Amino acid sequence: TNPKKSASFVVIGHVDHGKSTLMGRLLFDLKVVDQRTLDKLRKEADAIGKSSFALAWVMDETKEERARGVTVDFATNYFETDATKFTILDAPGHRDFIPNMIAGASQADFAVLVIDSSTNSFESGLKGQTKEHALLVRSMGVQQLIIAINKMDLAEWAEDRFTEIQQQMSAFLVAAGFQAQNITFVPLAGLTGENVVNPVPKDKAAWYTGPTLVSALDGARATTRAMEKPLRLSINDIFRGGVINPLSISGRIDQGTLQAGDAIVAQPAGETASIKRIEVASQEVDWAVAGQIVILHLTDIDPIHLRHGDIVCHLSSPITTITEFNAKVLAFEHLLPGFVDVHRGPLHVSGKIKGLVATLDKSSGEIAKKKPRIVQPGQVARVSVEMEKGMSLEEGMRIVLRSEGRTIGAGLLE
Ligand code: GDP
Repeated sequence: TNPKKSASFVVIGHVDHGKSTLMGRLLFDLKVVDQRTLDKLRKEADAIGKSSFALAWVMDETKEERARGVTVDFATNYFETDATKFTILDAPGHRDFIPNMIAGASQADFAVLVIDSSTNSFESGLKGQTKEHALLVRSMGVQQLIIAINKMDLAEWAEDRFTEIQQQMSAFLVAAGFQAQNITFVPLAGLTGENVVNPVPKDKAAWYTGPTLVSALDGARATTRAMEKPLRLSINDIFRGGVINPLSISGRIDQGTLQAGDAIVAQPAGETASIKRIEVASQEVDWAVAGQIVILHLTDIDPIHLRHGDIVCHLSSPITTITEFNAKVLAFEHLLPGFVDVHRGPLHVSGKIKGLVATLDKSSGEIAKKKPRIVQPGQVARVSVEMEKGMSLEEGMRIVLRSEGRTIGAGLLE
């Protein structure tokens, strides 16, 4: 029992706009990471002549990625403020990173969109992944955004640059279906740390009176979770342990509640088990609720059939496995009947768009045109999809359609 609320967010934005550095700064200034660790990373970064990368490596500790100088892994990190327990679902902006970002976005309460404010960078980001990522999280059901207008040190903390970016982004985001009151803009510098945890000094930016990144994070409302609905937990990790805990799984409870002793089933594997013990944030608890990230120690289970992405349900109300569905999707590219990969969280199955049912009005959701021949990028449409294999899916779940390595649409199952 903890009075703090929990929230999770995904970090999005164009490559090199400073996502990893910003998260490293956040964790360092909140003292989640100590000076010794940072010194060690700084030494390693100096050794390859990239000292500014030390902060970026806080989020990401694997050697291979460091050597390449890009962060491409789906790393998860936790931190707490006085009010909230946060999970960062990291999403670096590398091109082939989109599938991981989808996994993050499908769990996120809100998104932090990082934008490089320096000359020409914001503009080239608009042609790159800035808009694509914002549209993607929107179509995955994310409604709140914190826009980190980053590298303000390079923009010399110029108010007019901040305002220019804010105005252009607001116009785009509102047109994409975000509500203006759900978007917070924060000017900051991840590398040097102004306005991340500590406010920017007045002599640098007297014009700014808004929140720091941390206060904006604290102010974000966590999505209301369905406690009364049937249990759904998507498996994030599977640990095959020793004698005491032969098998444990972790993941976030998307809806419902669970208790020690409950009989569960993982779908579509159909594998049944009992919950022996539950851990939340390294503490053993008797029960857990929607929104919490849990580790479940299981008994009476045959682990070979379990997979990352399977959905844990109560044995009494399992999710169905289906091969066909209708979804309301935002088109990123032209949509036509034909082959697609259907992604739900970390899982994907090949399939095809069988039909374009209708295009829909973006704000009202009403039918705009029945049976269009083609759906244009930026339009919202109802499509019918068929899959080669069954996937565990139900109404309201977030799915993504990809073709030849590109995201062509994303949205919610109807
Ligand atoms: P990512 O690809 O979005 O994760 O970007 P990184 O965090 O790897 O940062 C890309 C580059 O921008 C690195 O060289 C960083 O040191 C630099 N950078 C990040 N934040 C800032 C900032 O606030 N100011 C300045 N001057 N450089 C920054």
